[in-house]
Amino acid sequence: MPYVVRVRQKFNSAHFLTDYHGQPEPLHGHTWMVELFIKADKLDNGGMGYDFIEIKEFLKGILPDYKCMNDIYDFSPSAENVARHIYYKVKEKYPTLLKVVVWETEEGGAEYYEE
Ligand SMILES: [Zn+2]
Repeated sequence: MPYVVRVRQKFNSAHFLTDYHGQPEPLHGHTWMVELFIKADKLDNGGMGYDFIEIKEFLKGILPDYKCMNDIYDFSPSAENVARHIYYKVKEKYPTLLKVVVWETEEGGAEYYEE
């Protein structure tokens, strides 16, 4: 019986789209929210699929907190591209990862998963 463990983490990061309708977007920052969806096929004796704390620690280690994404990524850091990037980083550690959602604001975000 599969379960889905979900973990959310906020981080602060600056970015700009390198081509926003033909122009570089001005540099600006957001408090981003990332959410992971990890499938757990079975639970341990305590009833836990994955340890939220361990997932959060791993996630914090790969998030670009207090950085400018354009300085560290070789792609235009849209929410879509950031979701894809985080997806493959997390997938190496948690192969049953189903999906990553990245919210740039409370109203706008993107998710990435493999079909
Ligand atoms: Zn933005």
